[in-house]
Amino acid sequence: KPRDKKDVMELVKQYDVKFVRLWFTDVLGQLKSFAVPVEELEMAFEEGMGFDGSSIRGFARIEESDMIARPDPTTFAILPWRPKEKAVARMFCDIYNPDGTPYEGDPRYVLKKNLEKMKKMGFTHFYIGPELEFFYFKSDKAPEILDKGGYFDYPMDAAEDLRRETIFCLEQMGIRVEYSHHEVAPSQHEIDLRYAEALEMADIVMTYRVVVKEVAKKYGVYATFMPKPIFGVNGSGMHTHQSLFIGDKNAFFDPNDPFHLSDVAKKYIAGLLTHIKEITLVLNQWVNSYKRLVPGYEAPVYIAWARRNRSALIRVPMYKPGKEKATRIELRSPDPACNPYLAFACMLAAGLEGIKKGYRLPDPIEKDIYHLSEEERKALGIDNLPGSLGEAIEYAEKSELLKETLGEHVFKELLNNKKLEWDEYRIQVFPYEIEKYLPIL
Ligand code: GLN
Ligand code: MG
Ligand code: MG
Ligand code: MG
Repeated sequence: KPRDKKDVMELVKQYDVKFVRLWFTDVLGQLKSFAVPVEELEMAFEEGMGFDGSSIRGFARIEESDMIARPDPTTFAILPWRPKEKAVARMFCDIYNPDGTPYEGDPRYVLKKNLEKMKKMGFTHFYIGPELEFFYFKSDKAPEILDKGGYFDYPMDAAEDLRRETIFCLEQMGIRVEYSHHEVAPSQHEIDLRYAEALEMADIVMTYRVVVKEVAKKYGVYATFMPKPIFGVNGSGMHTHQSLFIGDKNAFFDPNDPFHLSDVAKKYIAGLLTHIKEITLVLNQWVNSYKRLVPGYEAPVYIAWARRNRSALIRVPMYKPGKEKATRIELRSPDPACNPYLAFACMLAAGLEGIKKGYRLPDPIEKDIYHLSEEERKALGIDNLPGSLGEAIEYAEKSELLKETLGEHVFKELLNNKKLEWDEYRIQVFPYEIEKYLPIL
């Protein structure tokens, strides 16, 4: 892995790189890319590359649209699906204003700012291990499946070669994979990444989505991270394992606790439980995200934590109980169509708030919450996640924590954008309504 500009310049020569793609991310987590020939690289490092911010969603207004992209040399990697001769590489960029100040609309900057706050509280690392799920379809026109396999199925699995090649590509880019398998729904798959620090992991998630899609394209199929593409089967989640470290000590670990969870971990979980409704707009940002968060499909609906219970919002995995490095919590609501920079920033901020304010953690719920009645849930004090994008907007809009975490600019841009989406959606007349109402009304 390169450490600085000099390392990059050497790799460029060694691997016959002709173009370097400069990557950054818009407010909704869409990757943006422009290519510079290697001859321009020196200049890109020295001065950054200018571009028109007014054309990027959630970025500047027309009258203040000149932005500078500065590549981060530590993110240099060759794109393995591109030619070997005159190869193509990529680097993630940080976005700056022409006066040299960091641009507040840049999601990477939002995450960095929140990591700074974490460091001020004495933690040195925020580790993230996400489990991204996705579907392969024949095209992007309809959810036509490639196989009828289910969880861990083999060989009822049309995607062996697809996953194999995807993993090779990820590894060639320095991204470590831990597991891969067929998921519960037909044509649904999962490739799990080895944990890394939050900023690196957000870059990796952006890369992962590109690699999965590029390899699918090569095989003439389409890969999607849409949260719920097929009614009646599981949707795609991005369960997010997380822990805070101080140096190489896991701040979530306490060998003497029955759950092996420290006080810090418990307050962090309490922070997530308390603020989850406010940050759901970021973790589940599309109208379609809320079709996944319904009972019965291993996706969370109710705000509770547990050790093993997969209907809970937060789980404490117990594969290797008592092992310090492996102690972590798993947040199960995020979906893989989120903006990972903003999503990781929001999770961290909610958890840190719990630590700062010393929130008390309620008891774990080890029962299957899907099967509790509304009264039983009420008696246990279990609340629901927002049920729609509209509800999520309402909680987000009132949240000081969210505004503080995202900064004014991103907070406003996100809300404006999401309100438009919700309005557009809620005035549609769907086939469901025609089929149900036309014959009887
Ligand atoms: N697909 C489920 C979700 O939406 C998770 C299933 C699993 O990983 N066991 O979160
Ligand atoms: Mg998994
Ligand atoms: Mg899974
Ligand atoms: Mg999981």
